[in-house]
Amino acid sequence: MFEKSYDVAVCGGGIAGAAAAIASARQGKKTVFIEKTVMSGGLATTGLIYIYLPLCDGYGTQVLFGIAEELLLASLKYGPGNIPNWRIGKNAEEAKRYRIIFSPASFTLAIDELLVNAGVDIWYDTLICGAQVENGRLTAVEVENKSGRGRINAKCFVDATGDADVAHFAGLDCPTAQNALAFWVLEHAKGAKWRLEGSIESVSMHADGGSIDKKRGMSGIDGAEVTKFILDGRAKYLARLKKEYASGNQSRTTLFPLTLPSMAQFRTTRHIPALYKLRDGEDWKHFDDSIGMTADWRKSGFVWEIPYRSMVPVGLKNLVAAGRCTAAEEDAWEVTRVIPTAALTGEAAGTAAALCADKGISPDELPVTVLQDALRKAGNKIHLEDVGLAPKK
Ligand SMILES: Cc1cc2nc3c(=O)[nH]c(=O)nc-3n(C[C@H](O)[C@H](O)[C@H](O)COP(=O)(O)OP(=O)(O)OC[C@H]3O[C@@H](n4cnc5c(N)ncnc54)[C@H](O)[C@@H]3O)c2cc1C
Repeated sequence: MFEKSYDVAVCGGGIAGAAAAIASARQGKKTVFIEKTVMSGGLATTGLIYIYLPLCDGYGTQVLFGIAEELLLASLKYGPGNIPNWRIGKNAEEAKRYRIIFSPASFTLAIDELLVNAGVDIWYDTLICGAQVENGRLTAVEVENKSGRGRINAKCFVDATGDADVAHFAGLDCPTAQNALAFWVLEHAKGAKWRLEGSIESVSMHADGGSIDKKRGMSGIDGAEVTKFILDGRAKYLARLKKEYASGNQSRTTLFPLTLPSMAQFRTTRHIPALYKLRDGEDWKHFDDSIGMTADWRKSGFVWEIPYRSMVPVGLKNLVAAGRCTAAEEDAWEVTRVIPTAALTGEAAGTAAALCADKGISPDELPVTVLQDALRKAGNKIHLEDVGLAPKK
């Protein structure tokens, strides 16, 4: 069994994990990024979810900054895509806000580059399969890769697995949820609705989206169920191909998959039991412990402050969560679960973990003003007033 030690261990390499690892390493901490696949970006890349939702409120005000904006720009560095003229929008539709469609493979290359430049130690093809807890403190995660089984010690950990795997392995009772079947692919589709701007017309991207089966019924935390979810999605997609071929609208040379998602497209699985769960209707609310803002991607004019407490677990020291496994319910979850908010909570979690490692404290003991100062220094805005908006609640 091998053993390694770090200041900060970022568990899970999706958008939240990437932002967390970059932020922690930029704070000068020895940081490891542990990812079970061989790609950075998680659902946004491996999962082929290629729409970076808006950084603005739909009325011309930017509300997300820092690494959330840096990643959006990075997603365009090695591939096509354009930022709309979002500053002039008033009650703008989603496509006219500060949001883009990107190429998932291009995005992975750019994220890798940011991680390497920040000095992050990247461990791909490494599955986290357990956690070690001593006196209520998380001390290590157990991993498995080609070298065999290992133990990664850290002063502080970020759970960015999307599924709260670390919190779960550490014995926390994590709330769960249900998912509609979803299946997004990248395909060659003549006349496709979704297309990477700037790409040649016939090579397109297509969302055979979450609407293909409205039935909610899979939690994504059972091994057999995950396989069923994947096979059901593929079967639906295959049925669509067959139908199009049979109708004569398309043929196997005008419509075919270029690549399939290589992770299950669950929107929500587990989240941490947190000090605070963000609730429906808490848009426009001031939180003293805000770590930044996000905007509702479905409708213009709804801005949310995100409380640090929704990232901090109850009942376990040395862990902070980021991304879609932070605590939010129903409508609030719809705004916290998306790519830009995952980047925001990732940067906050990585910064918090680095500060905790520095001070020898746990995330629940970190004075939030210290975190807010560090985030501001890195270019983030914390409260509605910081971008010229005013709380209404
Ligand atoms: C069908 C669908 C459509 C969506 N549409 C959009 C959209 O249009 N725009 C948008 O902005 N968002 C959209 N989202 C949401 C968004 O893609 C994700 O919520 C967001 O990318 C989550 O990022 P994350 O880093 O929190 O988690 P994930 O992307 O899930 O990343 C978690 C990472 O951790 C790794 N991991 C998990 N467990 C382990 C383990 N035990 N050991 C090691 N590694 C592990 C995974 O491999 C993964 O790389 C959609 C999601 C789905 C499913």
